[in-house]
Amino acid sequence: ALFEDIEKIDDTLGSFLFINKENALKQAKELDELQAQDKMDGALFGVPMGIKDNIITKDVLTTCASRMLEDFHPIYDATVMEKLNGASSVLMGKNNMDEFAMGGSNETSYFKNVRNPWDTDAVPGGSSGGSAAAVAAGLVPYSLGSDTGGSVRQPSAFCGVVGMKPTYGRVSRYGLVAFASSLDQIGPITRNVRDNAKILNIISGTNHRDATSMPNVDQDFLEGIDADLSGKKIAVPEEFLGEGIDQEVTDAVEKAIKTFEEMGATVDRVSFPHIKYVVSAYYLIASSEASSNLARFDGIRYGYRAEGTETLEELYRKTRAEGFGEEVKRRILLGTFVLSAGHYDQYYIRAQKLRSKLEADMLKTFEDYDLVIGPTTTSAAYDIGEKIDDKLRMYKEDILTIPANLTGMPSISIPCGLSEKKRPIGLQIIGNHFEESKVYNAAYKFE
Ligand code: GLN
Repeated sequence: ALFEDIEKIDDTLGSFLFINKENALKQAKELDELQAQDKMDGALFGVPMGIKDNIITKDVLTTCASRMLEDFHPIYDATVMEKLNGASSVLMGKNNMDEFAMGGSNETSYFKNVRNPWDTDAVPGGSSGGSAAAVAAGLVPYSLGSDTGGSVRQPSAFCGVVGMKPTYGRVSRYGLVAFASSLDQIGPITRNVRDNAKILNIISGTNHRDATSMPNVDQDFLEGIDADLSGKKIAVPEEFLGEGIDQEVTDAVEKAIKTFEEMGATVDRVSFPHIKYVVSAYYLIASSEASSNLARFDGIRYGYRAEGTETLEELYRKTRAEGFGEEVKRRILLGTFVLSAGHYDQYYIRAQKLRSKLEADMLKTFEDYDLVIGPTTTSAAYDIGEKIDDKLRMYKEDILTIPANLTGMPSISIPCGLSEKKRPIGLQIIGNHFEESKVYNAAYKFE
């Protein structure tokens, strides 16, 4: 039935780059047989999933929405895929995204745009725009996205669904095509908070193939999810509701704050004075790491290879010129410049210092508060084509999601209202490191 829905509406939506129909139906049949024999095994037995196309799926096309990987069929599964397959979930297809996860509107995909199911004139957000749109349209009950600077939470906000970026290290990045390794985290996108916690239960945990992954300490995110919020202390950074945030977004979040107060939580205004520098710091750090990570796409090892070249140098040059899109090249150039001798101290080191200062601000806040809340985005979804030519403006709009990435803290986006144009608005709840349970608890009570 879901494949029929996908066939019916995804021509318009564009949320899938590849439909895994044959394999999925075969697997579903096998699961049906197991069920008939009463041998249902797996926490997600027969539950369909969508997966962002930068997560490696064995033998199943994985393109990162780039010409560079147009025909790439990986020979192994990402750790998260091993876990979800092990839970008997069924892969429906690979979700569209911004090329190599660089973007916030899904307009940098090499293949096609994604439309927002709430209003097909609007962007779905990005870079996990296909994942969020597919879940919002009911084409899959859940999808995985990746979040380097907001790419799970921002599209979730724009599409009115629930998206979690876990603590850095909570989920193994093995098999996630690297964008900025010190920031990247895989996270679930779902229609409700409980489903989200359930998926995170399955995909999290330490993994010997990712040295930055952390032990799961056997945490169950469903446990205590409906605990009372009375006595909880919540901080709202004043920079999150001031200048640069649309009035309708501020209004929706102020209303959410009242709801938390009615549930017995205390809400105080705090200040994160370093917030104004986070966009610059993020784009310097993320681009630096990207310029190094994307060096592997050289036309030799895998992916696209340009034709008709004579020297090795020419092969590299032409392959990368033809294989990467404009936004990816912009980031590689910026990153290479930032890391070059003479500029490294001026840009890269200073960005890292800012990162430490922000973390200190936020850790200090968490000494007194359980959670930090605010909007996920500065506005609701905008029209396709409206901002794509104003890169700086788009970068600046990541200001609210970036802090959780720079500090490695967990953060969720949940729906909290509609704009005048009837487009969803997201509420962001940030927790201290490894305190996803508190985040889920507040999100669940609010929902
Ligand atoms: N919009 C941000 C960027 O373009 C975030 C991307 C992401 O989280 N993958 O870098």
